[in-house]
Amino acid sequence: MGVRGDDSAIRADLIALYEALDRELARIGPRCEISGRCCRFAQYGHMLFLSTVEAEYLAEAPPPGDVARSSQQCPYQQGVLCTARERRPLGCRVFFCDPAYAPFMQEIAERYTRALKAIVAKHGREWCYGPLPAILKTVLEAEGNGTTGGCSPAESAGATGSAVEGGADRSGGPRGTR
Ligand code: SF4
Repeated sequence: MGVRGDDSAIRADLIALYEALDRELARIGPRCEISGRCCRFAQYGHMLFLSTVEAEYLAEAPPPGDVARSSQQCPYQQGVLCTARERRPLGCRVFFCDPAYAPFMQEIAERYTRALKAIVAKHGREWCYGPLPAILKTVLEAEGNGTTGGCSPAESAGATGSAVEGGADRSGGPRGTR
């Protein structure tokens, strides 16, 4: 999938936001054990939320796994590794299960989600945000149809301030990467 129309401008802002987040996280230094558990949503008890603009970037490379099973496990995970590391969304980047990082996670997730919302508004795009299974399916289908897709009420209703919805591991905060 290529960048649509003048979407290269929003893409540049998105990548700059990811890079700023990665620099901030490098200063904090949360630890990752590369267990891959956080991308196995059902097992870990949480779900990755992302925006449509992030899903469009993520889906530039089709997922190697089964999209139909993405409520169970991210289709970009192979073994314990992420096959979309450069394009992984905000919710993946902010999440670490390191207990020492837990006090920082919610504030960072909310601050960067607000910044992402501002980017989407700046470029005149609709803020569409929801769980990965719904958003990724919509984006992939739109790409297949050659359309721009849309934002269902269920997806936009999920537009909370956080990039992550936790379950059993809510005390640890947001969601996972790798
Ligand atoms: S880091 Fe994110 S995109 Fe990569 S496999 Fe995990 S949940 Fe999927």
